[in-house]
Amino acid sequence: MWLPPGDIFDKRQHKQTPWPINGCRRMILSSHGFVITCVVQPNEEFTMQRQHVLVLTAFAVVLSTALAAQGAAHPSDFQSVLIKDVPHVRQKPDFCGEACAEMFLRKLGRKIDQDEVFNRAELDPQLGRGCYTRELARSLKNIGFNVGQVWYKIDRAAAATEMGAQFRRLHEDLRQGVPSIICMHYDARPDTTEHFRLIVGYDAKTDEVLYHEPAVENGGYRRMLREELLKLWPLKYRAKEWTVVRIPLKAARLIRGSDAHGPSDADYAQHIMRLKERLPHEDFQVLIQKPFVVIGDERPQTVRYRAVRTIKWAVDHLKKDYFSRDPDEIIDIWLFKDKESYETNTEKLFGESPTTPFGYYTSRHRALIMNISTGGGTLVHEIVHPFIESNFPDCPSWFNEGLASLYEQCGEEEGRIHGYTNWRLAGLKEAIEHDRVPSFKTLTATTTNEFYHEDRGTNYSQARYLCYYLQQKGLLRKFYRQFRASVKEDPTGYETLKRILKRKDMDAFKKEWQAYTLKLRT
Ligand SMILES: [Zn+2]
Repeated sequence: MWLPPGDIFDKRQHKQTPWPINGCRRMILSSHGFVITCVVQPNEEFTMQRQHVLVLTAFAVVLSTALAAQGAAHPSDFQSVLIKDVPHVRQKPDFCGEACAEMFLRKLGRKIDQDEVFNRAELDPQLGRGCYTRELARSLKNIGFNVGQVWYKIDRAAAATEMGAQFRRLHEDLRQGVPSIICMHYDARPDTTEHFRLIVGYDAKTDEVLYHEPAVENGGYRRMLREELLKLWPLKYRAKEWTVVRIPLKAARLIRGSDAHGPSDADYAQHIMRLKERLPHEDFQVLIQKPFVVIGDERPQTVRYRAVRTIKWAVDHLKKDYFSRDPDEIIDIWLFKDKESYETNTEKLFGESPTTPFGYYTSRHRALIMNISTGGGTLVHEIVHPFIESNFPDCPSWFNEGLASLYEQCGEEEGRIHGYTNWRLAGLKEAIEHDRVPSFKTLTATTTNEFYHEDRGTNYSQARYLCYYLQQKGLLRKFYRQFRASVKEDPTGYETLKRILKRKDMDAFKKEWQAYTLKLRT
C-alpha cells in the first residue's frame, strides 16, 4: 500500500496562506453561495510553487479528457446499480467527509453523526479544520469500517485504463451495496478545492454516476456524467503520477455511537473555524484550553504561557475545590495585550466599550474579555463566573463576586487554590472605620442590581473579605457546598452562613469580623 509522507501537507498550507480553509470557503461562498470545504491529500509535490501546480492541473485536465475519450470503457460495460434510501446530510463547514460518513451510517441505522466521525479521527481540534483523507480513513477504521487501500497511484501515461479500472472497482463495490467516499475536485475550475462526495449509484442508460453532495441542502442522489467524474477524481499533484482516493464503506464491526454531553472536539474545531474568520488581525494566537478557547495578541509563547500557567492552573484548582461541571458551551477568553487593543477590539468584536480597565465576563457573548497588561488576577476572577453559572446557577451576586474576587490575588497552598489579601482591603478598612459597612443580613440580601450599582466598592470588598475569613477558618468550601445544596430554602445564604459560623448573633459576628479585618495586612 502506498502512503504519502505525513507532514508535508500542513507545511504547504502554511506556506501558501495562513488560513487556508477560510480562503477556500470564501471562494466557494462567493461563486456558489454555500459553504463547502477543501480536503487534500499530502504529497511531496506540494512543495512546488502554486503556479506550477495550477498549470499542471490545467494541462492534466486537457490530457485526461483526451485519454478518457480514447480509452474509457463503454457505458454498456457497467450495469445500473443504486443504493437506495441513503439519507442526505448537509455538512458543517469543512466536514464534507464526516457528513458523507454520517449519511451511510444513518442508512446502517447507527447514530454516529458528522461530529462524532470527526471526534473519532483523533485530529487536534485546534487546527480548526475537518478531516483530510488520512484522518477520515482513521476515523472510519475506528468506527468499524474496513476501508482497504484508500490511496492509489495512477500512471498518467496509462491514465485511461487505470482510471477505468478504478471505476470498475467502485462499481463492483456498489453492486455489493458498498458506497464509496471519494476525494475529488469540486469542479473543473483551475482554482477549485478538493471535496469529499459519497458515490451511491450508477445509471447505465445515461452513463451517469449518482452521488450525495454534502455541501448543499437536498444534495441527495445528484447526477454527474461518468466522464466528468473521471476528470475530477484524480488528484494531480505530480505530473507523471496521479493520486486517486477512494474509501469504500465496507462495514466490519461498527461501534455504537457515543452519548457524551458537553462540547466535543468537533464543536471546538467548528468554533475555531468561526473564530478565525472574526479575528481582527492575524497576530492573534488561538489555543484550546478546555473548557475555554484562548485568543491573544501577545507573543505566541506568552499566550501559551498564560493558557497553561494561569488558565489551566486556575481551572484545575477551582474544579478540585468547587466545580464538577464545565460550562455547557465553549467560552472564549480574549487576552488583549494592552489598553489600546482591549478597547479597540472589544468595540470591533462585540460592539461595546468596556466599563472596567481590567476585563470582564459577558455571558451574552460567552466570552471573558481581558486587558491582560493589567495582570492575571482579574483573569482568575473572571474564570470563576462561568463555572458558578454552570454549577450554581442560583448563586446570588454577593457570593459569586465574593468568591471570584477572593481569587484575583491567589496562589497554591497544600495543593489548593488560596486567596490572599489585596488592594480591596484598604477601602474596606476605611469603610469599617467610618462605620459604612452594612450588616451581613443586608449584604447577603442585595439583589444583583443593588450589589452592582449601590456602593459597589464596599459590596465587593465586604463579600471578598467574608470569603477570605471563611477560607482562613477552613469553612469556605463547606459554606459553598451547603449553600448550593440549600439555596432553594435559603436563597441569600444568610441562614447557611449563620449555621456554618455557628452564630445566632450576627451583629456580634460582624464586630469580630471587622476587628479581624482591620488587623489584616496586604
Ligand atoms: Zn466578577
